[in-house]
Amino acid sequence: MIKGKKEVLSRLMGVTGFHRVMKTAHSGHLTIFNYHRIKDDSPNFKTDFDDEVFGPSVSQLEEQLKWLKRNTTVISEDELLESLRKKTRLPKHATMVTFDDGYVDNFTHALPVLSALRIPAIFYIPAQVMNDRSLGWWDHISYLLKKTHKSEILLRGIRLRLSDCRERAGQPLFEVMKLQSFQETSSLVEELSQVCEVPIASHDICSSQLMTWDHLRSAIKQGITIGSHSNTHRVLATLPLATQLEELRSSKYTLENTLSISVKTLAYPIGGYEHFSIETMDMAKQLGYEAAFTFTNEINDLDAIHPFWIRRISPPENLLLFQGAISWPQVFIKRRTDLKEPQLSRQV
Ligand SMILES: [Zn+2]
Repeated sequence: MIKGKKEVLSRLMGVTGFHRVMKTAHSGHLTIFNYHRIKDDSPNFKTDFDDEVFGPSVSQLEEQLKWLKRNTTVISEDELLESLRKKTRLPKHATMVTFDDGYVDNFTHALPVLSALRIPAIFYIPAQVMNDRSLGWWDHISYLLKKTHKSEILLRGIRLRLSDCRERAGQPLFEVMKLQSFQETSSLVEELSQVCEVPIASHDICSSQLMTWDHLRSAIKQGITIGSHSNTHRVLATLPLATQLEELRSSKYTLENTLSISVKTLAYPIGGYEHFSIETMDMAKQLGYEAAFTFTNEINDLDAIHPFWIRRISPPENLLLFQGAISWPQVFIKRRTDLKEPQLSRQV
């Protein structure tokens, strides 16, 4: 169903009270929202980086969280873990709010709204990225494609046309990058920089897009929970097992020691089923993580939550579509098409 039709349907559902009826029908679900970046409210909002990781604007986020507070039970990490430990059922209409990657607008734009509404949230942080002040390949690719004077780019047989919409032009390259090794993504970004005839974004430019450790300390004081998003944000399934173990161990250690906290949960980088493995889940458990989150654009059945396979969805910007995602997920949530669900052959 196309977006416009979904909005009309959601509006009709609100007017007729159907949202209420459907919400009752779906009370056995835990819906977890995975935000990345929050836009400012300017109608002419523009970024030099990846547009796709930007979700709602500040005022859209405020509307969404107010609606969640009125219509659902927004639970914290502790409440989720307690329910998993004791095998107790979560409240009806349970929801959670999470932010990945450590972008600065999580602090400047989202935190004031979360604090004012007293909504619990988890920030998932790639620890080494905080120290290196580096950005992911998706931001570097977008930056280079937006800055180049060229109207078409040919990179290793992939043709990118830049004349129409530069914001989405990098998509074919993004799909290739998701399952490449770190060395390969780095050399592809360097090659792209040469083809575009644009220098890679400087350390200071990259750093300005990220929270600092002081931002994180302040966020913790305001009630935010910090979780691990690996150490370097490399795709875990592309790494040897010993390197995966080190990713999960170092991240937990650095976050705990730098911030004087206990890190209990993990969000797998990129988060599709092919981006982590049963071995990843095993190692996370051995290292003391109590749960881990995917990003597969699916909701959780309250009677079948696997602690190391907890599903999250991308929040639609539009409030009507956001409401629809909770009230009638089968219609309003578009499952990621790049998923190949693994068979769990044994209990992790
Ligand atoms: Zn991420």
